[in-house]
Amino acid sequence: MTDLRTEAMLMAERHDAGHGVVLLKMHPEMVVKPNAPWIEHACRAGDGRPILNAVALHPDHKVSGGWPEITVSPSIACPCGLHGFLREGVWVPV
Ligand SMILES: [Zn+2]
Repeated sequence: MTDLRTEAMLMAERHDAGHGVVLLKMHPEMVVKPNAPWIEHACRAGDGRPILNAVALHPDHKVSGGWPEITVSPSIACPCGLHGFLREGVWVPV
């Protein structure tokens, strides 16, 4: 698996949300709203090759709770097929 995480992602504070999902507490300039975590997971590149990467939330996501007990709605989906809810810092697969 190719690791595409940047230095900023490697340095970020981390929280294991379960099911292979790790929340990254990124710099405020790198998030769409305060406390919006990046979602690190085993992903797939556009050509299908396995990668380790993290994705930012969509600006329409609502984020509540304090780090790391963060709740996001609606659900979070990645083009690779990852789909789930983040509830109080716990990943709940759909
Ligand atoms: Zn993905």
